[in-house]
Amino acid sequence: MKHELTRSRIFLSPPHMSGNELKYINRAFESNWIAPLGPNVDEFEKEIASYVGVRGAVAVSSGTAAIHLALSILGVTKGDIVFCSTLTFVASANPILYQDASPVFIDSEPETWNMSPIALEKALVEAKATGQMPKAVIVVNLYGQVAKMDEIISLCNLYNVPIIEDAAESLGSTYKGYASGSFGDFGIFSFNGNKIITTSGGGMLVSDNLAALEKARFLATQAKDPALHYQHSSVGFNYRMSNILAGIGISQLEVLNQRVNSRRSVYERYFKELSDIPGIYLLPELDQTFSNRWLTALCIEEESNIDILDLINMMAEENIEIRPIWKPLHLQPLFHGAKYFSHYKSDSISEKLFNSGVCLPSGSNLTEKEQLRVINCIKKAAKVKCV
Ligand SMILES: *Cc1c(COP(=O)(O)O)cnc(C)c1O
Repeated sequence: MKHELTRSRIFLSPPHMSGNELKYINRAFESNWIAPLGPNVDEFEKEIASYVGVRGAVAVSSGTAAIHLALSILGVTKGDIVFCSTLTFVASANPILYQDASPVFIDSEPETWNMSPIALEKALVEAKATGQMPKAVIVVNLYGQVAKMDEIISLCNLYNVPIIEDAAESLGSTYKGYASGSFGDFGIFSFNGNKIITTSGGGMLVSDNLAALEKARFLATQAKDPALHYQHSSVGFNYRMSNILAGIGISQLEVLNQRVNSRRSVYERYFKELSDIPGIYLLPELDQTFSNRWLTALCIEEESNIDILDLINMMAEENIEIRPIWKPLHLQPLFHGAKYFSHYKSDSISEKLFNSGVCLPSGSNLTEKEQLRVINCIKKAAKVKCV
């Protein structure tokens, strides 16, 4: 009887192997390229660059490391200011602190949940007036949905501020036909275990600026000056990706489009079953964008009669992992005192989303049967008849 009560765990976004990974790992072993460089790394970089449509890529140990390198190359240093989306994972902004710079957080807008061009403009106008211009703007594409890049890029061009596109969650998404990650002066991806494809841990810095990427390679390998002996004149990092892990990445990239399709189907099923419940709103897909639907996120508002805490507890009992959406960074104790610009004068979109938003299990290996368990749980909480 007991096994009927213990239901298998449904994770938010577990790794999903293609089955081909060992082939490339073995290639690393056979050639003895067991190092943070080698043929798998070179190949993975070329393939990501070509997939995204940029001139070059540098494989690194994490998405966080890629953001840190971008900030270093843009010359962000002690006392500088960097703008950053507020509704995101802490990794988007931690590297600002590594550089002893100060983040200024920008609210979301309701259509994409990403950086509000209105709030960004307010922040830029004030920065200009006070002579405290940001050295960079970090724009995050949440849960696979690309931000309003046209508006954001024209503002940043007008004020001459470089963009770092945090596309950690949006590999495989497009905006007006161009790949997410290709819009900023730099783009970054993450291959952490929970992302749409994974190397178990890893990241990628991409750009059209090959000289800047050369500098990134230099900084990511301890900034060793060209000399016979070990010569160093700037601070470096040990940030390169292992040749073994790059092998996993090559094999995962082969199935990326399938992974995107699976996650989109997961979203479609949630949409079909849940969007009619009053008070439930799923993260929309902006016109002319294509989302990889990394995670299906929804807002549960009062009319739904669902108490979010109750729902999370019910899900825990059912052994299903759901999570509130990212807590806005301007509300984090870590960033206490940081400046914040909201979309509306007296109304903060990111805070509203945080108060009602949850992410549902969205893995590309989620079965329809498992998904039904999640859907029925939400319907039960909303007191809607289950299928
Ligand atoms: C995962 C993630 C990162 C960090 O990537 P790591 O590879 O885990 O360092 C950065 N930004 C966002 C938005 C992420 O979701």
